[in-house]
Amino acid sequence: MRTRTIIGFLLLAAALAKSGLAQQQSASADTVVIHARVYTVNPHQPWAQALAIRDGKIVAVGSDKEIAAYRGQSTEVVDAKDHMVLPGFVDTHGHFMAGAGSLPNVALDDAKTVPEFQKMIADYAAAHPGLKWIQGMGWYYDIFGKTGLPDKKLVDAVVSDRPVFLRAYDGHSSLANSRALAIAGITRDTQDPPNGVVVRDPATGEPTGVLKEAAGDLVQKFIPQPTHEEQLDLLAKAIRYANSLGLTRIISCGGDAENVGLFDELRQRGNLTLRFYMAPFAPTPGITPEFIETLNRNREKYHDDWIDIGAVKFLLDGVIEAHTAAMLEPYANDPTSGQLYFSPEKYKEGVMELDRLGYQIFTHAIGDRAIRLALDAYEEANKANGHSDARDKIEHIEDPSAQDIPRFGKLGVIASMQPLHATPNRDILDVWAVNVGPERAQRAWPWHDILAGGAHLSFGSDWPVVTLNPWPGVQILLTRQTPEGTPAGGWHPNESLTLPQAIEGYTMGGAFAARRDKTEGSLEAGKLADLIIISQDLFKVEPNQIGKTQVMMTMVGGKVVYQNASWESGKTSASR
Ligand SMILES: [Zn+2]
Repeated sequence: MRTRTIIGFLLLAAALAKSGLAQQQSASADTVVIHARVYTVNPHQPWAQALAIRDGKIVAVGSDKEIAAYRGQSTEVVDAKDHMVLPGFVDTHGHFMAGAGSLPNVALDDAKTVPEFQKMIADYAAAHPGLKWIQGMGWYYDIFGKTGLPDKKLVDAVVSDRPVFLRAYDGHSSLANSRALAIAGITRDTQDPPNGVVVRDPATGEPTGVLKEAAGDLVQKFIPQPTHEEQLDLLAKAIRYANSLGLTRIISCGGDAENVGLFDELRQRGNLTLRFYMAPFAPTPGITPEFIETLNRNREKYHDDWIDIGAVKFLLDGVIEAHTAAMLEPYANDPTSGQLYFSPEKYKEGVMELDRLGYQIFTHAIGDRAIRLALDAYEEANKANGHSDARDKIEHIEDPSAQDIPRFGKLGVIASMQPLHATPNRDILDVWAVNVGPERAQRAWPWHDILAGGAHLSFGSDWPVVTLNPWPGVQILLTRQTPEGTPAGGWHPNESLTLPQAIEGYTMGGAFAARRDKTEGSLEAGKLADLIIISQDLFKVEPNQIGKTQVMMTMVGGKVVYQNASWESGKTSASR
């Protein structure tokens, strides 16, 4: 009896000791980040010095002293060396596969004159003698004078032996050289495809090489596709690139959900260090039972923190620069008022059905007519299906009508805006603003007024349309100026945001849009440990310097996935 009691006591003591140890172990963190200026985006605790991470999640946020309690024998310590720490950034509108595919192509964004444009193409062709096709992207309309459109002769003059295919910066127009037109069999007799225009010389009727909208596909389909392995390699490169810019999540607005298997393959290889929320493109002229069947099957399979298919993207109109965005009134310098790529009936029908099935709707709508139609369709569908938190999103919103701006807040529609598209360069001031005229130009990218109406904002790049780098985007949200500081005082500066508003749009705004505000978007206990250390304190530098921000370190799910070469290994093992 007595012996048994003693043995019982010993067992109990051992059990207690064991559980005590277990408790101590579970209290220590896998990683602590210390000596930081943490801007949490959590309104209840906006600033902190340190945080503790366990099992990929944040377990505590506080002072260096408070977080010291989480340091154990094997805790990794990241010393932020007084740098700013932010939640990982979300790009709320990208086409990741297209972006990855564009990485090796010639980038024409910096061509400010026709000779520069030609030299870039010539240099690239010379540097890549083995390439069968020369592909590029990023040219701006304004460098080509009055028409805003280039001509194949400009390219023929520098590359005539190989086909060349160059997308405009907005992706809505392309330029092919004569060789590419010949391969595609495009002549003066070629008919315009639906939703596309083969631009012709008014004097001769000959194609000029410019292909608007869907006409680009007439050439695109002849360009050899990368192999499966090449695609995986490009994707992995693009993911590392995104991490190096401070991105931890992408909301894909078409083109990626269609290839979701590639992303899953990367995950199985351990190379997925960026989270994806994906929407496939809705087919024209309307959704079909087959489309929904595939969608449902993919949603069933992919719905976790890394890969999630929960939305559908409609491309409802074109762009203002090419007079293809759908406007309520004709363009100021053209009798047309753009076009809708879906009939209003078919579009509304699709929105209604997908909303009923619990999908979010993303709609590319740039002109005021397309924006109104999207708002109407969302309002009707949410009402009919009894959804009060559908989180439908409108993409771009470049020129809404005054009466529709407050509807975003009222209806709970997320405004997904691309700050760099609003860069007030010559293209925007001389083409965009002239096309819509002065009255409508007053409401160019009105992010401030949409926010003031109580809406959720989220920001993205539309990569590969512009750079994937979010920092110049943060800058322009504040300045509404070009990187060179023009126009003085900013373009419609009443629409500028504050720095906290801009950061929130790139973090919580994106998390909210991906239905992940409970687990991402801010740095607080219980959320995923997706965070970045950056080179400068955004609250201390001039707004026009924010674009130069460098990312020192990116962590996704508690793992360091990127470190800047200049960032001396801030990681040391715990030594107390
Ligand atoms: Zn897009």
